[in-house]
Amino acid sequence: MHLMEILRYRPVPAAAVFFGITRRCPLHCKHCSTSSLLDSEEYPEQLFRGFAETFTAENRPEFVLMSGGEALLRPRLVQDIAELSRAVGARSHVLSGLYFAEHGRIPRPVKRAIDAVDHFSASLDVFHEEEVPRAAVFRVLKELMDEGKQVSLQLTGTGPGDPYLADLTAEVRRVFDDRVPMLVAPVSPHGRADAWLKQAPLPRGEVTPAPCAVSAWPVIGFNGQVTACGNQDVMDGKVPLPPHLYLGHIAKDDWPTIKARAIGNPMVRAIRATGPEYLAERHGSKGGCGAEGYCQTCWVLSKDPAIPRRVRELALEPTTRLVEERTEEMLVGAGAVSFAQQYGITEYAELVTLGLEEATAGAGAQQTAGSTP
Ligand code: SF4
Repeated sequence: MHLMEILRYRPVPAAAVFFGITRRCPLHCKHCSTSSLLDSEEYPEQLFRGFAETFTAENRPEFVLMSGGEALLRPRLVQDIAELSRAVGARSHVLSGLYFAEHGRIPRPVKRAIDAVDHFSASLDVFHEEEVPRAAVFRVLKELMDEGKQVSLQLTGTGPGDPYLADLTAEVRRVFDDRVPMLVAPVSPHGRADAWLKQAPLPRGEVTPAPCAVSAWPVIGFNGQVTACGNQDVMDGKVPLPPHLYLGHIAKDDWPTIKARAIGNPMVRAIRATGPEYLAERHGSKGGCGAEGYCQTCWVLSKDPAIPRRVRELALEPTTRLVEERTEEMLVGAGAVSFAQQYGITEYAELVTLGLEEATAGAGAQQTAGSTP
């Protein structure tokens, strides 16, 4: 499974689910969005396995994405979730910081977990390189690719002019002969990066509809709480959880329940269709909600009762559903590269397509990468 196959589905509600299966990580990357440490929180494996057991062939996500912290600190759990997913027809992906890469061979339990997933992705950036050398990451990727595993890299940098990104992407392309797709995103001011990365707020122009595509897939946090998006400030409790972003908890809710809420929650539907700033401006009792910023506006939407009330009324109107369907069609039609442009660094967006031709040829007609979600 190529990275593009996952990204193509990114705007489709509940097409995938994110599992944050641990907050622990042995690395100490300066930009870690989850502020992970080796003694960070971790909940029983059965909590996550039990939720994956609620997937059925008739009602399942298309993709199951696992990360942490460092997901491969729990290799048996990654393997179990991947196998449970595959048994009902879902495909799986794991993202790792490759904490084991320097120690020669991949540890056997970790290798079994990687073998079980349909796509393996490694994080690599200037901060990871202080913990795990680039050469060790390349060695692991090469070993996996030689066995036919589909892999990708998730890179972060300061922006299009970051010389580190230019150097790294050029080297990856050269070493792997353009066979490794790369998703390149800016460092975000969350977790440990919050202490040193200051971002000036964007100037507020005319507020127009700006759909939030990253609220399409439910996110399970390390504690089992499920939210409509993975905004780290919300997941860390740095801002009070907005009621409209809470989808449930995997200790008591199964996949069909979470999926139904992700698709049907009127506020999440409206955020996906028009974005939070437009909602605030259009339906707020004071023509806005006083917050500056896209997600910052989202966090306070429910504080103005006029907004959820009006959104609930509108959700019942057939034209609203029509607008939502058209928005989803438009975002899906725009494609994976468009998603990478919007949520990553635009200048590097095309790199998500590397290796697609070869992967498509290898997968044959069964998993045609050009198929429409
Ligand atoms: S706008 Fe709301 S739903 Fe979208 S990413 Fe921000 S906090 Fe999450």
